Amino acid sequence: MIRARGFDVDYGRGQLARLVPDLGPWVAVTQPEPWEVLLPTLPGEPAEVVPAGDLRPAHLDAVAAALQDGATAVVGIGGGSSMDTAKWLHWRTGLPLYQVPSLPSVDACFTRMTALRDGGGVRYEGDSVPEVVLVDFDLMWSAPRELVAGGIGDVLSCHTALFDWQVGVDAGRDAPWDHDAAARAAEYLDDLETLAPLLAAGEDDGIRALMECHRDIGWLCHELGHARFEEGSEHFWAYAFEHVTGRTIMHGELVTLGVLVMSTLQDNDPGRPRRIADTAGTRTDPGVLGVDPAEIEEALVRLPSFVEEQGLWYSVANGLTVGPAELEAVRAALGTGRGPDHA
Ligand SMILES: [Zn+2]
Repeated sequence: MIRARGFDVDYGRGQLARLVPDLGPWVAVTQPEPWEVLLPTLPGEPAEVVPAGDLRPAHLDAVAAALQDGATAVVGIGGGSSMDTAKWLHWRTGLPLYQVPSLPSVDACFTRMTALRDGGGVRYEGDSVPEVVLVDFDLMWSAPRELVAGGIGDVLSCHTALFDWQVGVDAGRDAPWDHDAAARAAEYLDDLETLAPLLAAGEDDGIRALMECHRDIGWLCHELGHARFEEGSEHFWAYAFEHVTGRTIMHGELVTLGVLVMSTLQDNDPGRPRRIADTAGTRTDPGVLGVDPAEIEEALVRLPSFVEEQGLWYSVANGLTVGPAELEAVRAALGTGRGPDHA
């Protein structure tokens, strides 16, 4: 397993309950599900509860301006929008920041910038480093097991992203190859092989190892100044899916689907991400995920023009031919084929 770099983390149980008496009048930034689990375990209530969800900068600045005088700390509790909102309140007020992620898919607790929703797109701004990230195993295991397993998506994406980065380098485009970063990303994939059965078995060490990958990825993105080792055509396909359908599903699960689709079209050992996802218990059956196979194919057909329009990093998606043979290969990879040899 990697020795992760990055923000301070405390792995355990009930850490926030032990911290609260020392916080003074604190501000909780949270969402209903994790808050219902955590609040009864705390010795005292926060001075203020800020609901997370709206990441428009005007809204976040209004929340920051309206915080009570005398507040002493901001604690983000929940998913990405809680982490991002808490980061922004810290950035605007300077109050000490604590992060309590509720799923091991949440890498937003390990990144410095807030993903603002602005003008129909996403814009990254700010620079927030928490005092500590509190990974509470009881809180994480209180979520449905399949959502915990969905947390592998943003690490599994290194499988396809590394391939695309090389494609971009060969084409003389984008960020130059960085041997150490690429080697590190390959290690994350080895770690996924190791942690996948632990995650499926409900072992704390599965969550710990996965969060250590997210932690190191957050550090490496900051060091490199880009995320090419972690974000490639699997993410671009996911963005195209959101573009053509006007909706989304859990990010980690959508990205995992993207890895299965794009590793097939890259002809890049698609059996490996399939094995890791199945071992971890990550949901990949489109029917179970509420995704119509036609939507998957529509996103794929749209992908080559989408990456050009959006100016996304160079990848196999640029100039990709999506014809009957490619669609059939993707159907076979996802088990959505309708032919007689489909099991
Ligand atoms: Zn992602």
